[in-house]
Amino acid sequence: MIREVEAKTLLSHSKAPDPWFGVKYNMNLYRGCQHQCIYCDSRSECYRIEDFNDVLVKANAIPLLRRELASKRVKGTIGFGSMSDPYLPIEREYRLTRQALEAIAERHFPVHMLTKSDLVLRDLDLLEAINRETMALVSFTITTADDDLARKLEPGAPLPSARLKALETLAAHGIRSGVMLMPVLPFLEDSVENITGVVKAAHRHGAAYILTSFGVTLRDRQREYFYQRLDELFPGVADRYRRTYGERYSCLPLNHRELEHAFTAACGRLGIATSVPRWEPPSRAEQLALF
Ligand code: SF4
Repeated sequence: MIREVEAKTLLSHSKAPDPWFGVKYNMNLYRGCQHQCIYCDSRSECYRIEDFNDVLVKANAIPLLRRELASKRVKGTIGFGSMSDPYLPIEREYRLTRQALEAIAERHFPVHMLTKSDLVLRDLDLLEAINRETMALVSFTITTADDDLARKLEPGAPLPSARLKALETLAAHGIRSGVMLMPVLPFLEDSVENITGVVKAAHRHGAAYILTSFGVTLRDRQREYFYQRLDELFPGVADRYRRTYGERYSCLPLNHRELEHAFTAACGRLGIATSVPRWEPPSRAEQLALF
């Protein structure tokens, strides 16, 4: 079900950019996510999304964002996509992400888009405009390069092959783009072949960086849903999780050291960075030089 709601605030912020994604301000234009990844952490109770199948559209998001941007004295990277993908299928109709990018371009803030969708290409013109002024970064989450496996794990999202093609187009237009290789699901994606397969595919399509985190975090409602889906899709795998991790939040693959080694070696060989590029505000001297 799609429902429109009124949001009270939009941009959350942290004092310093977060060390993983380089994001100072964060926002979600939707609540719930049509991509329906079976491992999604946003199903956890702490986020209080009663039914993750419902997508709530923050109908007043754009005027709210314009007001909030006008009051920000400190520039910093604005992150899209922490709790819900900014390029859901309904974004074609609502165009909230596009309108948000327009408002951000006018105010000269940098952006970091995190998505699983090639719909991001629709906004290439705005990303290029932002990139000319500050920085536009696009990260595609790709947990496997195997489209058949991804169809089961991320049933509502465009396939990894489509994401990689989109990455290539963005890179060809000078938009720094990369891959979030996370989560890496134990017993399903924790082979050296899967990890190096993603790294090689990312490299072939022009990725500038890959960030990874081996394993998956699981808790309460999210774990229940994940195990239910595993029972339907991969009989026996949920039992392996139960036996190996019990109630543990952090579920690291048993061979995580081997995976880390393979990942670092492959990225090193191919010259891919393993951290996300940062945007730095221009120094005072640079600012003065502009006048
Ligand atoms: S795209 Fe991200 S937010 Fe959406 S269901 Fe998948 S993991 Fe969750």
